[in-house]
Amino acid sequence: MFGQQRGDEGKGRIVDMLAQESDLVARFNGGSNAGHTVVLPDGRELALHIVPSGIAHEHTVNIIGNGAIVDPVRFASEIADIEKRGIAVTPDKLKVSSSAHLVLPHYKYLEEIREMGHSAQGSTKAGIADTYAAKAQRAGVRTERLLGDHAALITVVKEGLQSVGLNRSKNKLPPVDIDADVKEYAAAMKILQPFVTDTSVYVNERLQKGASLLAEGAQAFLLDVDHGMYPYVTSSNTTAGGVATGLGIAPTTLSKSVGVVKAVQSHVGGGPFVTEIFDEKILSKLHGDMSTIDAEKGTTTGRVRRLGYLDIAGIRRANMVNGTTELALTKLDWVPRYGKKIKVCTAYTHRGETLAMAPDSAWALEKCEPVYEELSAWDEDITEVRSFSKLPTAAQDYVKAIETWTGLPITHIGVGPRRDQVITR
Ligand code: GDP
Repeated sequence: MFGQQRGDEGKGRIVDMLAQESDLVARFNGGSNAGHTVVLPDGRELALHIVPSGIAHEHTVNIIGNGAIVDPVRFASEIADIEKRGIAVTPDKLKVSSSAHLVLPHYKYLEEIREMGHSAQGSTKAGIADTYAAKAQRAGVRTERLLGDHAALITVVKEGLQSVGLNRSKNKLPPVDIDADVKEYAAAMKILQPFVTDTSVYVNERLQKGASLLAEGAQAFLLDVDHGMYPYVTSSNTTAGGVATGLGIAPTTLSKSVGVVKAVQSHVGGGPFVTEIFDEKILSKLHGDMSTIDAEKGTTTGRVRRLGYLDIAGIRRANMVNGTTELALTKLDWVPRYGKKIKVCTAYTHRGETLAMAPDSAWALEKCEPVYEELSAWDEDITEVRSFSKLPTAAQDYVKAIETWTGLPITHIGVGPRRDQVITR
């Protein structure tokens, strides 16, 4: 399951639903910068950041694969938060790859300094980029180190923290409380340690015995480090290829690729946004009431999102790279907020040429203009509708038009944020 746009597509709830039919649910990329919101059957919200979305299901084993990265402090606080909701998190239910890299505490301080300068990218300051950079430089530390002597690792952690001191004072930032950070990290290392195992062997053995696996993509297509709008991307592969490398399974294992598309195109952070809306009147409706769960603001960052019209040209590219076999469309209930007529971008123009598919670079995207088609909106409230045939004709036509433009069936339709507010076809 992958996000086909720019993140925040509503993947959490879709993956949570798909997890009901899966024996294994795995994260293969990214770290605690993801932020899925799962709504439990009793209406309570569960904000997940690194823990896979199958955690609320008793029968599901959740995997944090080698392609993901783990910050022990955030991991410890996330599982404490989940347990507070009455959901047990044990090593039987959650397994962390011994090859996943650790986010060391000084990485987030390095990021903080970088975010102050010219190369600021509006990152989540969770140390993600530095962890992946260290991995690529072969200077990273993997969770396997937690299985050995913690004293040696604590020295590495301390030296890392000491190394940022000079840079902080140069940037007029207060000194780091090294002892407090080391103490917190060391305590979290102990909490994380029992979950660490060779998940590649575990997953492959379970697959051979017939288990079903759901790979949960964090972030989204346009944030993929190779296929997204570089450099406005994350540091890992968010697309289908990342599943095999990020879990240690064969690409041939994948039989189905579900792409999640949000009817309200949104983006957090910098970068080109071909269909962006600047009309405050439309924006205020589309942003929604900031106190509600489905307002267009970031789960992890709280930042208000940039919003635009649905972009089929971008989705076509995501479908190609991910080998998408079906789509889940979320937030159909919000579409009438665009107005009586709904614009959908079905192609771009670029230097006088019409493009059915988005180009692969931010640089080219900056020069693209949207080509819009218009559909009619509907007045009816659809949040309690549970079958496709009961949707207003205009809503059905909207869904069918997206199927035609993308060439893919839409199998799930979100009509509200609750777990039961989905039409399955
Ligand atoms: P993710 O980052 O892709 O996992 O996105 P989330 O799962 O956090 O979803 C983003 C927000 O959209 C959350 O507040 C969800 O509750 C909300 N949401 C998801 N699907 C729908 C939908 O169909 N309708 C409405 N109104 N809200 C939705």
